[in-house]
Amino acid sequence: MPELPEVETIVRTYRPRLEGRIIRAFESSWPRRVAPSVAVVRRRTVGRRITRLHRRAKYIVFDLEAGGHLLVHLRMSGRFEWAADNPDADRHTRAIWTLDGDDALWFVDARKFGRIEWTADLAAATAHLGIEPLSRGFTVARLTSLLRGRARQLKPLLLDQSLIAGLGNIYVDESLFRSGLHPLRSADSLNADERAALHEAIRHVLRKAIRRHGTSIDWIYPDGEMQDELTAYGRTGLPCVRCRTPIESLRVGQRGTHICPRCQPRHRRRPRGPNRPGGTRVSKGAAPRRRRAGTRP
Ligand SMILES: [Zn+2]
Repeated sequence: MPELPEVETIVRTYRPRLEGRIIRAFESSWPRRVAPSVAVVRRRTVGRRITRLHRRAKYIVFDLEAGGHLLVHLRMSGRFEWAADNPDADRHTRAIWTLDGDDALWFVDARKFGRIEWTADLAAATAHLGIEPLSRGFTVARLTSLLRGRARQLKPLLLDQSLIAGLGNIYVDESLFRSGLHPLRSADSLNADERAALHEAIRHVLRKAIRRHGTSIDWIYPDGEMQDELTAYGRTGLPCVRCRTPIESLRVGQRGTHICPRCQPRHRRRPRGPNRPGGTRVSKGAAPRRRRAGTRP
């Protein structure tokens, strides 16, 4: 399922092709996933110029001249195809926008969970979404206010789109690994250092993933490079990049989850714990993260 970096990559790819273009026609063979209806979307969008293409959480947003917005959610398997690049129609094409200049944009969706929605009020249509993790407003203080007083486990909380928008399974696992936090820790158990580390990790992981054009793990999203950089997600049994302990998988709230059992202990280590054999190795495990970040070109 595309997450924030994949949707951001799609928006950046299609922005030069779509901004400034006029929608000449709209057709959909899957009306159940078009809201309020194909007829309304057609009436509100045909003849309108696309003034801006942008992203909110995992939604692709078309701003239209003279008001109104088109929201596209890719869900499990949706993707855009540029008709000119595809001489043969894809049998999973669910919607087609014909544009001025005889170009066309296809919405292709094998599993048919994707959704196309027209709205007059973008703020109302996205009011259920939490803060953008790459926005200026997403500070350590803001993350602290989201975590404090919540006994929920960290991973389900980070996946909750009403709190932080755009994170999914891959980047939550990666963020928790980078910050050394176990996904089953309760949100209110984090101390100030851990909250700051989690904040840094979320932004670092998302920015890096956008630079690598997202993660390609199957045919749904083929153009990413971040799969070569993943440190926890999908690496079950492979050695941890920090401590060489094999990555383990577990289920957290029905989601496949990947952790290093040594770098992400279930319970917080005491800062100056009892003098046991693991003590020095533990501090060694945390150090390379800072070294690596500091020496990155
Ligand atoms: Zn490790």
